[in-house]
Amino acid sequence: MTNRDLSRRAFINTAGKAGVMAGLTGSVLTSLANTNSHENGYLKPSPDPTPYTQRPLPYSYSALEPAIDAMTMEIHYSKHAATYAKNLSEAVAAENVDTAKISLEDLLSSISKYSVKMRNNAGGHYNHSLFWELMNSPGKVAVPSTALLTAIQRDFGSVDAMKTKFNDAAKGRFGSGWAWVIVKKDNKLDIVSTPNQDNPLMDLSDAKGQPLFGIDVWEHAYYLKYQNKRPDYITAWWSVLNWDYINTRFSKIS
Ligand code: MN
Repeated sequence: MTNRDLSRRAFINTAGKAGVMAGLTGSVLTSLANTNSHENGYLKPSPDPTPYTQRPLPYSYSALEPAIDAMTMEIHYSKHAATYAKNLSEAVAAENVDTAKISLEDLLSSISKYSVKMRNNAGGHYNHSLFWELMNSPGKVAVPSTALLTAIQRDFGSVDAMKTKFNDAAKGRFGSGWAWVIVKKDNKLDIVSTPNQDNPLMDLSDAKGQPLFGIDVWEHAYYLKYQNKRPDYITAWWSVLNWDYINTRFSKIS
């Protein structure tokens, strides 16, 4: 059971007791409990709740060599990503977010109600938390699952066509940002890019959907090794994707 399920159950229990007192019917309570954006809005349900604090990196700094060098990983994880997590903790305190009751994903899907600091750091923390998980799979699955492959072929034609479209989105993002493969509400896959630390969960994002995987194209993600050669970083990055994680994530979203 996820934290969100727990908080949802707590809400239903509370609403249920209040409902008995107020004489509300079951259908009213059900509609009250389903007002969250993941059930009724533009998003498929979140596959995994992301903690508000930084998780340990699931591998060593050198695990992604030679595609991503150890120094880049160390600075990226222990400085850049750690700062997003720290600034997020400040923002949720300042803006009275009860993190036991609202998931990070739900906060992102109503991010227009919060400050720019919240937008940048909730996005930055979520994006990096996902980014670490979807890389590195030594000796494990190296390809999309049958279910994901079927969806890729249906929506892009082939894996190569998907990669070309994704690479174009990642190369074409002007300045800093991310490129994503998303699962839209209608279950279709799409490729989008977002600026800065925005992501497709955000209500103010032009491109909306549940992120399946994505690449960080901020210069801090590649500059030490690749300097201005962002396309070389993107090409190398495909070799360190954790398809085991992505396949499982897809099965939870779709
Ligand atoms: Mn980054």
